[in-house]
Amino acid sequence: METTVQAAPHPSRDAWTSHLRSHGRRVTKQRLAVLDAVSAVPHATAEDTVQQVRSVLPNMSVQSVYVVLADLAAIGMVSKFEPPGSPARYEIRTGDNHHHAYCVRCGVVQDVPCAVGHAPCLTPSQDHGFELLAAEVVYRGVCPRCQEELAASATEAR
Ligand SMILES: [Zn+2]
Ligand SMILES: [Zn+2]
Repeated sequence: METTVQAAPHPSRDAWTSHLRSHGRRVTKQRLAVLDAVSAVPHATAEDTVQQVRSVLPNMSVQSVYVVLADLAAIGMVSKFEPPGSPARYEIRTGDNHHHAYCVRCGVVQDVPCAVGHAPCLTPSQDHGFELLAAEVVYRGVCPRCQEELAASATEAR
């Protein structure tokens, strides 16, 4: 099966194509479909990404989607974020050192711009001699929709 495709006129696809090539990866429709899926649904779980990809490429196996996702993460095209106690989420790597707010009730994830704009945005009181690369910040909380639902159920209970 011939899987190499021509780069479509798609601004991010041009960047993806050159990024893939610079890492010695062939530009395949499978890799592009995974990148499309992750960019369409930021912070999706691997399972969500599998469903999204298979709606476009029904013959692509679940295993191959996982393999491509892991490889894209390894070459820095996709970043992986692991909320505490929840499956890992994936997004297109933006390089903006943004952080995440995670709802402990429904699991929704929102991007939070980095407070300083570059990594590491936190200066530790003790760096143990490390040359620090990044600080991963996760803000845990309750999203507005859950706050509303909680307020509504509190009113009902009264
Ligand atoms: Zn929520
Ligand atoms: Zn994000």
